[in-house]
Amino acid sequence: MTMQRTFSIIKPDATRRNLTGAINSKIEASGLRIIAQKRIHMSDREAREFYAVHADRPFYNDLVSFMTSGPVVVQVLEGQNAIAAYREVMGSTNPSDAADGTIRKEFAEGIEANSVHGSDSIENAAIEIAYFFTNEEIVG
Ligand code: ATP
Ligand code: MG
Repeated sequence: MTMQRTFSIIKPDATRRNLTGAINSKIEASGLRIIAQKRIHMSDREAREFYAVHADRPFYNDLVSFMTSGPVVVQVLEGQNAIAAYREVMGSTNPSDAADGTIRKEFAEGIEANSVHGSDSIENAAIEIAYFFTNEEIVG
């Protein structure tokens, strides 16, 4: 068990339906701590850079449009094995494959509008956190 930080986004489909608090409740109930949080409207450039790894995928342009379609809440979460722990709480990318009790099972609208993002590795967590937060904004 190692203490880790991961990067989370509450996506526009969730902020639109006023689910920020409900999602934060699930995060906190899992034991993860929200140690930084802000509501922003991602620019086209930020969304393109953030999802650059998917640039060649057929859904890339749609995904960028979706992520810039409304406010998002960006967060840093901390806890034991936070990266894997949060991905468990989120559930599978496609909500129809997600386990009962997960955020995506309960709240996601579809495979694209799936309510949350969570980092998939230690390296990406560090890159994603640094992309959206300064050290001063993270209060552990
Ligand atoms: P995220 O990176 O958002 O935490 P993930 O790691 O479960 O989710 P990725 O494979 O990294 O999934 O895909 C990134 C995002 O792109 C997904 O969360 C979803 O919003 C969108 N996406 C993934 N696959 C598809 C698809 N087949 N069609 C439409 N959108 C998709
Ligand atoms: Mg991913």
